Amino acid sequence: MLDQNELNKWTEKQPLIGQMMERKEVLWQNPALESAVTGLSKTGVTVADVQDASDRLKRFASYIQRVFPETGASGGIIESPLTAIPNMKEVLEQEYRLDIPGELLLKQDNALPISGSIKARGGIYEVLKHAETLAIEHDLLTTEDDYAKLADPQFLELFSKYKIAVGSTGNLGLSIGIMSAKLGFDVTVHMSADAKQWKKDMLREKGVTVVEYADDYSKAVEEGRKQAEADPTCHFIDDENSLDLFLGYAVAGERVAAQLKERGTVVDADHPLYVYLPCGVGGGPGGVAFGLRQAFGDHVYCYFAEPTDSPCMMLGLMTGLHDKISVHDFGLDNRTAADGLAVGTASGFVGKTVEPILAGCYTIADKTMFRLLKLLADSEDIRLEPSALAGMTGPVQVIREQAEGANSSQATHLVWATGGSMVPEAEMKAYYETAGK
Ligand SMILES: *Cc1c(COP(=O)(O)O)cnc(C)c1O
Repeated sequence: MLDQNELNKWTEKQPLIGQMMERKEVLWQNPALESAVTGLSKTGVTVADVQDASDRLKRFASYIQRVFPETGASGGIIESPLTAIPNMKEVLEQEYRLDIPGELLLKQDNALPISGSIKARGGIYEVLKHAETLAIEHDLLTTEDDYAKLADPQFLELFSKYKIAVGSTGNLGLSIGIMSAKLGFDVTVHMSADAKQWKKDMLREKGVTVVEYADDYSKAVEEGRKQAEADPTCHFIDDENSLDLFLGYAVAGERVAAQLKERGTVVDADHPLYVYLPCGVGGGPGGVAFGLRQAFGDHVYCYFAEPTDSPCMMLGLMTGLHDKISVHDFGLDNRTAADGLAVGTASGFVGKTVEPILAGCYTIADKTMFRLLKLLADSEDIRLEPSALAGMTGPVQVIREQAEGANSSQATHLVWATGGSMVPEAEMKAYYETAGK
């Protein structure tokens, strides 16, 4: 907790914090950004770590394809399309009365198979890694085997003796719950008050235990962690501190590099890539930013996007206090309809890791997200959940600031759409209608 003196000190030192306390939409350029080589070397995470995660996902591909046939087209690799959205670009140019000279692309994690959000990267990866470790320990599996056999009864029986637990605002719970239940684990999801009813219902239908809390995300995580600690058979997936989650997300870097190459999009010193990532606790966007920095070095600029009422990562980075503070210390209440981003305190692990590799952060009002939700649906027929629109004002914010080469026809702007395809139709309709109010 900050006292009034400390708060005054920070608002004096960083005037932008004053604007954030008034819930303004602001952009912050990170003064601690380092060159890619120096920055990456400071993170403590290595190329080999990400390669290991990538290799593991390849080993699991035959299993994933067997139990989730919808991944057949990609051979059991869980990946999403990269889509040009020229109509939306025009809409943004009209809305904000500015030119976006570069190309606008959407990374459609809303369409990721299995759980329809960015959490299908890190969340599923950590569950798979845990399953692999257990199966190898019990001499039922070697890394040379065809992992399709993990769907056989002896594995279901093994995993049923083990528990997995997680605290979540919703989407992480969906990913962990669906994957764990499929493998046969006894899985519990601790959900915060802002988690949507349909997510709880869907998980219960799949045999997942859902525990509900009247409190926010941090409380759900704390309770989940406490219950897991008391039980040696329980693996707690710690969204605030997990290197495995981070690595699962980081594999996105090489995947996007391959997709850009395939469509002929050049990224180099003359053709910078700007990426806008919605941020909650930080693991998803942090891991992706890390992977992108590895793939594109100094030619990629990653920005995190947070709701005006929940800019926990931005405040943590600006003050260097990371998980020692919450948005409540700054008079913000962490109330946002962007449930995937409703986090009051960022991951300290992620904050410290991304500090030297992140170009900046910006905030976006709920109202803007809903307006963009409708505009994207109307112009491109793509439906996202509110959180997933947070990246969409990135090009506007960064071009207005004249950051580096953003205002160039040779720049590519990549908005990371983090979720949406699992949202029931009635819910999506309600989101769409909110935009007019
Ligand atoms: C979880 C989530 C995010 C942010 O990921 P974090 O790891 O919490 O930072 C963004 N968008 C959606 C839709 C999410 O579910």
